[in-house]
Amino acid sequence: MRAGASRLFFFALAVAGALARPAAAVEPATEISALSARIEALSDRSRLLFDLTGLPPVTAYPVANPPRIIVDLPQVLFRMEANAGLAPGDKLIKSYRYGIFAPGRSRVVIDLTGPAKILKADSEPTAGGPRLVIELAPTSAAYFAVTAAEQARRQPADPPPAQPLQAAKPPSDKPTDRPVVVIDPGHGGLDMGATGKHGELEKDVVLEFARALRQKIDEGGQARVLLTRDHDMFLPLAERVRIARENNASLFVSIHADTLAAAHVEGATVYTVSERASDAEAARMAEKENLADQAAGLESKADAEQVGDILFELTRRETRSYSRQFSHSLISFWKEVGALNKNPSRSAGFVVLKAFDVPSVLLELGYLSSDKDLARLTSQEWRERAAQKAAAAVDAFISGRSREARAPADGPSGAARPQ
Ligand SMILES: [Zn+2]
Repeated sequence: MRAGASRLFFFALAVAGALARPAAAVEPATEISALSARIEALSDRSRLLFDLTGLPPVTAYPVANPPRIIVDLPQVLFRMEANAGLAPGDKLIKSYRYGIFAPGRSRVVIDLTGPAKILKADSEPTAGGPRLVIELAPTSAAYFAVTAAEQARRQPADPPPAQPLQAAKPPSDKPTDRPVVVIDPGHGGLDMGATGKHGELEKDVVLEFARALRQKIDEGGQARVLLTRDHDMFLPLAERVRIARENNASLFVSIHADTLAAAHVEGATVYTVSERASDAEAARMAEKENLADQAAGLESKADAEQVGDILFELTRRETRSYSRQFSHSLISFWKEVGALNKNPSRSAGFVVLKAFDVPSVLLELGYLSSDKDLARLTSQEWRERAAQKAAAAVDAFISGRSREARAPADGPSGAARPQ
């Protein structure tokens, strides 16, 4: 087993351990694992097989725009390479992803090259052991659209995880009045994010960085850090924003590490939210990141904004000014670690940055597509140094805000943000 694979296995076990407790219905003795997957291309159909250790109930249905098949399972541990389904080379199955979707629930998402109908989706015993069998055949666009619409009517909104996440809860020991900083490792679970050429996964790289950053901020003692996820699990974008708002966060930092077609482009970029993207590249990046929910089979929903409300507008304007202030500070601290993108300060319509009352930035650590960035991102020594600088920027921001709160008239905007 590769080091990466064993690490993923460990994460998966940690998640399973953490989730087994609240979900009393999931008996550890009945927990099922998936060990490997493969595709068999037959003349008239494509068959996707997972080798399992048990026989879970299976629910499968089509979802349109883009065409996908969703396979819902009770909690199944995928003890296999995370990126095995990225390029299966099948006529009908473009790619497939799998992982924990929500506490007690796992999911396989199959991206299709065109409309398909489900001939079979079940778990069954075979001579080689239990298997999950999904058989798909090409069908007409009309048939696919009708079945997907029927499904959408039956399940109008795919609910996000019902339980608030453990990471979001304040610790049960003595309460603290330190400002809360929410660090948000992007992607997770069946949404892997970007992948590097040696199988590095964005969801793992950003989680490791987020943990290092939490440690450095903890050492500074100025702020209390909450991670939106401390495991390899899926989290909808709206849930990440909710965690920041419900904890009255003073700052929200989403961490990412994407890929670009241009392999020579390198360095970190700090994004803030704006209606109009600062440049085409920022617009493309926001579009890509905003698809995260779709990667897990969720329908993207437009959020209802409180447009027209004066207080809302004022708060949002002030929040955005604080976001830009932190972004500039983060860039000047980061400069000391070296790698900055040629144009490190950008903005676009990132859904995850849309909390109107929490200053929010998205830190793109670098690109998994750049050899130089990849070497940095996978170096523990670099990670420690970079996290130290980012923590220093966070501390400077938090102490600046505390000074303003003590003497509001001296603050740059002259108005304290409602808490
Ligand atoms: Zn990302």
